[in-house]
Amino acid sequence: MQLVLLDYKMFENLTNKLETIFSKLKSAPSLNEEQVDAGLKEIRLALLEADVALSVAKEFIEKIRLKAIGQEILKSISPGQMIIKIVHDELVKFLGDKNQELNLNAVPPVCILLVGLQGSGKTTSAAKLAKLVEKKYSKKVFLVSLDVYRPAAQEQLKILAENNQINHLPVISGQQPLDITKRALNAAKLNGSDVIIFDTAGRTQVDLMMMNEIKQIKSLVNPTETILVADSLTGQIAANVAKEFDKTVSISSIILTRIDGDGRGGAALSMKHITNKPIKYIGVGEKIEDLEIFYPERISNRILGMGDVVSLVEKASEGIDEEKLRKEEEQLKKGLFTLDNYLSQLRQMKKMGGMEGVLSLLPGVNKIKKQMENASIDEKIITTNEAIILSMTKKEREDPKVINGSRKKRIAAGAGADVSTINKLLKQFKMMTEMMKKMSKGDKNSIPSGAIPDELLNQLKPK
Ligand code: GDP
Ligand code: MG
Repeated sequence: MQLVLLDYKMFENLTNKLETIFSKLKSAPSLNEEQVDAGLKEIRLALLEADVALSVAKEFIEKIRLKAIGQEILKSISPGQMIIKIVHDELVKFLGDKNQELNLNAVPPVCILLVGLQGSGKTTSAAKLAKLVEKKYSKKVFLVSLDVYRPAAQEQLKILAENNQINHLPVISGQQPLDITKRALNAAKLNGSDVIIFDTAGRTQVDLMMMNEIKQIKSLVNPTETILVADSLTGQIAANVAKEFDKTVSISSIILTRIDGDGRGGAALSMKHITNKPIKYIGVGEKIEDLEIFYPERISNRILGMGDVVSLVEKASEGIDEEKLRKEEEQLKKGLFTLDNYLSQLRQMKKMGGMEGVLSLLPGVNKIKKQMENASIDEKIITTNEAIILSMTKKEREDPKVINGSRKKRIAAGAGADVSTINKLLKQFKMMTEMMKKMSKGDKNSIPSGAIPDELLNQLKPK
């Protein structure tokens, strides 16, 4: 899911800044209010540097502060991790929560109007969107240029349409926008188009005549979508332009272009908040296929670069018994570890999908994170191990040393496993105990890099 976006410069600066801020927060074993405030201040600065509108940055930070204060920190994660999760959630909200689909709910031909300033990417986006709608919705799309003001503007769309096998309205030179619109509606009905995408003229700035023209076209075609195309490189200005357009012609959604070159990301972040209109697509290059559906969640992950922490916190808050965890942590600290503990650890690993489940109990695990990264575990092994431990007596679980040959046979029969599997489990348990001892004894911040024996990881990995 960490898609193609990785090649682009998008949000690069903001991402780098946040990474630095978070790496400080994340590794702190605990955070006091002062530290949280200092962190928030840095985040606010990073947002402003990313050209996020001041009002947006302020509200963003305030929301996070309120949540961070009222938040109960789950035992299995650090306060820094919790804050990353809070920032992530808020970011997703500011970006617009969920992707909103293109509205195509009307009797065909469904009309879509693209509006925006000159050079914002309307004509290019019209062609990109046509291709996307044809592919994604299997609709027959008809492209129409209403830009009679810029020389060769209609020609530009015609060429894009022809190069990409998209139907388009032939150009009649000298015809005015409203007449072209009427001709387009008729032609679309005759040729059985499902969707008409209208590319309109833009000016270098918001201009009354242009707005009036758009209004007239709108009342003629009754579009399901009036999409503002805005250049993300213009940052806050893009959000203000959107607001202006919405006031006069009422827009329904936004396409943000040139995201591929946008290292800052301010427009994307301010847009929804300032206009209350969803970004539906982003332009990520000049080619016809360079239009992507806008997914706030993915963008947020992209900006924070902390998807792993976010999902860890989500899982931790979902299904884990806090009280039990606390008791176990106590035991672990004392260096006590029984097969019962191991069983419950295994079950948590299953819930959390990897070794991180167990180890996030212990502070300082970030250092050995690399080692755990690919340590997903085999659920079958866990199920077998569960059955084996459940076939043991209480005494055996507490003190596995007593498990001799005949006990092994009995346990094997009870669990439907063979003795060699039991030996394996006991070996894993032994390694685990040693690891726990090492980690709970030593200096919390200097966990030896080989603390998790590779052999243990290998045993638990899916084959
Ligand atoms: P219009 O005046 O609003 O119709 O803008 P155009 O569609 O003619 O686009 C102006 C320029 O921006 C063209 O050279 C496009 O190739 C370029 N462009 C449009 N969208 C994007 C984008 O998402 N990324 C990049 N890198 N260039 C884009
Ligand atoms: Mg144009």
